[in-house]
Amino acid sequence: MMAKANLYVNLAKGMKMPLLGLGTWKSEPSKLSAAVKAAIDTGYRHIDCAYCYENEETVGDGIQAKTTDGTVKREDLFITSKLFESFHRLGDVESGLKKSLQSLKLDYLDLYLVHWPFGIQNIEGEMCPTGPDGRTLFNDVHFTETWHGMEQLVQKGLVKSIGVSNFNISQIKEIQALPNKVPISNNQIELSPYLVQDDLVSFCKSQGITVTAYSPLGSPDRKDPQDDDPILMDDPKLIDLARKKGKSVAQILIQYHLQQNVACMPKSVTPSRILENFQSLHFTLTDSEVEELKSLNRNNRYCTYDEAFGHPLHPFDPTH
Ligand code: NAP
Repeated sequence: MMAKANLYVNLAKGMKMPLLGLGTWKSEPSKLSAAVKAAIDTGYRHIDCAYCYENEETVGDGIQAKTTDGTVKREDLFITSKLFESFHRLGDVESGLKKSLQSLKLDYLDLYLVHWPFGIQNIEGEMCPTGPDGRTLFNDVHFTETWHGMEQLVQKGLVKSIGVSNFNISQIKEIQALPNKVPISNNQIELSPYLVQDDLVSFCKSQGITVTAYSPLGSPDRKDPQDDDPILMDDPKLIDLARKKGKSVAQILIQYHLQQNVACMPKSVTPSRILENFQSLHFTLTDSEVEELKSLNRNNRYCTYDEAFGHPLHPFDPTH
């Protein structure tokens, strides 16, 4: 077993969040419990989950196995999950959380995020209800209503901190303008050298909001890649830099975020990659190498949620 070496960032309320975590979107349930166990054995203490990944039960199995065998205590772990869009009404927020808690077999979360700024109609038994035209039935619940529900979860001790995901600067400001009782601890957004988003990252940091990078490897296993999407891990400059540093491309991409004090959640169900990704903690890039990586920016987004284009709360609808 390798030496444990975690990096942390301070959250609002003095909590510490491990900067490197295990992503779980698209992780096949048959492999995920073993992946969570391998990750915890390797030294990961942060696991990034969501109700809509439909695999929190198996994440919970992995966590339970590692707390039962004494490898870790619950309080050693930092578990993040996300409120699904159909639970955005004030009266639905707690039931959304409870579904995740039950699947994860936990009685609290360390961080709970509003997954997207817009909501979907809550229809019993249907995760993503669709209308006669086959399109998802979104609703007009405003995220400021949802945020009040999130604050109540903290007050009830069901979650330790709250934040948002996929929110743009003006949407964050709308929450900040509320008579808030609980600060926004985190904004989880897509980030990579192909989508640098310096304005959003700097704004969040200036407000004491930590930033988490999702799809840091370019999400090569996402379901609907477009033919003209560039493949991040095939970028020749990245490959050159990795060769020069004697590291893998994935390790370069992960360390790129950690070094900027941005948390990073690479997903893998492959134990050798889970270890390889964790070893990103063991080297550094120079400032000029980070700048060189930033110069690859092409504002390319892999996760567009284009089904919701046209919704007034879509955070990056190009037609707005
Ligand atoms: P990603 O982490 O960018 O890429 C995952 C893919 O890379 C998988 O196919 C994985 O394969 C492969 N991989 C992992 N390590 C590798 C390595 N060392 N070398 C080569 N390939 C490697 O994709 P992502 O799942 O889109 O993003 C990561 C996490 O961010 C998600 O799982 C989720 O937790 C979070 N996320 C959040 C949002 C949001 O809206 N908040 C959206 C997207 C993602 P194997 O698994 O087969 O090893």
